[in-house]
Amino acid sequence: MQEDFRNHHNALQQNRIKAGAFDIKGFSVSGLATYLQLPELDFCADMGECPISAVKLNHVFLTHAHGDHSRCLMRHHSLRKMMGIPKESVYYLSAAIYENACEWIRAEAIFEGVSPHKFQLPKLVPVKPFEKIQLEYRKDLYLEPFPVAHSIHAIGCTLFQYKRKLKDEFLNLPAEKIIELRQKNVEITREVYLPLISFTGDSLGETLRTQTHIWKSPVLVTECTFLDEGEEKMAVQKGHTHLSEIIEYLEKFGSEIECQKIILTHFSMKYSEKYILDTLKKKIPEAFQEKVIAFI
Ligand SMILES: [Zn+2]
Ligand SMILES: [Zn+2]
Repeated sequence: MQEDFRNHHNALQQNRIKAGAFDIKGFSVSGLATYLQLPELDFCADMGECPISAVKLNHVFLTHAHGDHSRCLMRHHSLRKMMGIPKESVYYLSAAIYENACEWIRAEAIFEGVSPHKFQLPKLVPVKPFEKIQLEYRKDLYLEPFPVAHSIHAIGCTLFQYKRKLKDEFLNLPAEKIIELRQKNVEITREVYLPLISFTGDSLGETLRTQTHIWKSPVLVTECTFLDEGEEKMAVQKGHTHLSEIIEYLEKFGSEIECQKIILTHFSMKYSEKYILDTLKKKIPEAFQEKVIAFI
């Protein structure tokens, strides 16, 4: 592994991947930083670092409290204030860590010299597994958290596009009839939630087998911290996924997997870019070579 790690380990050096209708920009290396910006969805998953490009995004989802994912949450908030962005950004985080987060944010502000009387919490929204929540400034998008297993409490999430569609029984009616029913206040539409993208965040490989709904998202972003043979046990001990677990799932459920793109993040910092790419090329099953992409 004689390679220059300078860019690969520079958390402000962003990667960019086209994932269906939207771009994912950011960085994710285990222990260093993870932040994944989706400008088209006005959304960022985790804030382990906060480049200027993330500042304008109004919705931030936090998977868990580890510093490489959470460290710059309040930097995001204070940079917005500094840059005069009037909109209140919204931070979605697990209800289980909400109280701790409030204390942490308050302590950090006071450490930075904010008077305790003047301190105000940013807009934090506690979320619970499988409770869909509409994004504050994107009424067409819903976020649904799900539990994942990690070394500390952590959650993943799926973003859904929300639509109202005509109920099946009204599909073939002429326009005049539809208008007439509307005027009579007949409920002619139903709610539809289309999955767009799922993030597992940091998690054990078992999440791939317990949260099988993630395989229905057109885009799945999942961690793959460890790659090498002999590291399987260590992956479990540290609360992370080993590449062999992803491969096992792909081989077992190949044709049932609906994801168009499976984006692997959070590789251990000991692997070089070349080593990651070579390993994936060698080990990912042929049918998934195009779909599985390393976020490096
Ligand atoms: Zn991490
Ligand atoms: Zn973690």
